[in-house]
Amino acid sequence: MRLFRSRWNGLASIIGVVAVAGSVASVTARPGPPAADEARLRQALEVITPALPKAHVRFLSHDLLRGRDTGDVGFEIAREYVVGQFARIGLQPITGPSYLQEFDLLEAGADRGSELTVGATRLAKPDARFTPAWLTGRATWEGAGVFVGYGLATHGRDDYAGADVRGKAVFLLNGLPDNWSADRERARAAAARVEIARRKGAAVVVELTPHDRMPAGASAGTEPPRRVVVMADGSRPRLRVDAAVSGPAATALLDAWKWVAADGTTARDVGTVRLVRAHDIKRLKSWNVVGIIPGSDPARRNESVVFSSHLDHIGIVPPDANGDTICNGAHDNAIGTSQMLASAEALVRMRPPRTIVFAAVGAEERGLLGSWHYVRNPVMPIETTVANINLDGGREGTITDDVIDNAADLSDMARIVRQVMGAQGIGVTQDRSPAALVGFSSDHFSFLLAGIPTIDLKPGYSVNGDPQRGWTERMHYYETQRHKPADN
Ligand SMILES: [Zn+2]
Repeated sequence: MRLFRSRWNGLASIIGVVAVAGSVASVTARPGPPAADEARLRQALEVITPALPKAHVRFLSHDLLRGRDTGDVGFEIAREYVVGQFARIGLQPITGPSYLQEFDLLEAGADRGSELTVGATRLAKPDARFTPAWLTGRATWEGAGVFVGYGLATHGRDDYAGADVRGKAVFLLNGLPDNWSADRERARAAAARVEIARRKGAAVVVELTPHDRMPAGASAGTEPPRRVVVMADGSRPRLRVDAAVSGPAATALLDAWKWVAADGTTARDVGTVRLVRAHDIKRLKSWNVVGIIPGSDPARRNESVVFSSHLDHIGIVPPDANGDTICNGAHDNAIGTSQMLASAEALVRMRPPRTIVFAAVGAEERGLLGSWHYVRNPVMPIETTVANINLDGGREGTITDDVIDNAADLSDMARIVRQVMGAQGIGVTQDRSPAALVGFSSDHFSFLLAGIPTIDLKPGYSVNGDPQRGWTERMHYYETQRHKPADN
């Protein structure tokens, strides 16, 4: 339900975004924005009044767009809105007069008898959820199974020690040991557990989530299952497990294997495993809306900076306590899209030396698929794409004195951002929410996979010097609004 709040004020973030973009778009040997650019920045920013981004958010999060879900007409209306805005702002289209990159997707339909047999135990929905065999719809696998605890194999720990998992089914425990979940480097390494299992040769990966004995700080895995979508070739940037067993069924398996404690895990054989996956597979389409500001410097216009901001959201869900079913996605990510549009509006006036690409991407909520499509079909070469700026999850409410620089520490982005924000009097802080510790949950992850320096830029926590205020607001958002009808 649409109850637009009037206190939209993401302007502080936009000033920072434009400053960073102007800077990464012009930095050569000398880091930081040349002093002469400051006047041009101020002048360009004059076109952005609070009413402008607010108008974008008002339209994009309207009930008529039904939560901008992938495959729904609501997303297509949002897409055409952004096309119109790109044209008005004066961005250059990518193919003839078109701003659209179309891509085909596969979506899991009804489960038609998928099952997992481990020894004498047979599991099916709802105890287990299955990822489809995308290209055939039906596949059967049989072989040996190995339980490898958390499946961690970095930072001095090897849960695979002594086990050969090549061609076998690997069983992983969801979550992390306590001393891993608070450490960013370890949490990031652990986020690649499915990739690690595949690299070690696992034929099948199964995840276990025993809700009654998850270690403190672990993800409980209790979010309702989301629609599962992949690219038409079956690929996606983040690998998925083939089956996920949760609740008492997972506990029973662990009991049968005499699994005891998080840190005492050693790999053990679990006998014969049979996995049958059978689903209806649906085809659908989505789109990225992509526009360009050609670089003004002939020597550098073949280099590009790509803005990404997902335009889709999660659509319609079962009614909440107020009977509301539409997840409007005002924060997630109408605000990010409005920041990108406002930034385009300012940057088109700054005429940066490098080319700037603006990509309002689709299907982020279904697995970062629009950005994955972009990096595999870039409008400027990946080798000369110097940076990605991702905008996802801006916030309304109080203006913060700082921003969060997710994933910037993985390249010299962190240094550039600190320098540019510092010059604008904006602080830089690290995302403190445990779920966001890894910081790979949005489209910048696709750009990271393509080897492009990136930043996922969000408002920070400090309000008038009080570092707690923004944190409280952010936690409130996570608890009451994120991916719910109340995000309106
Ligand atoms: Zn988002």
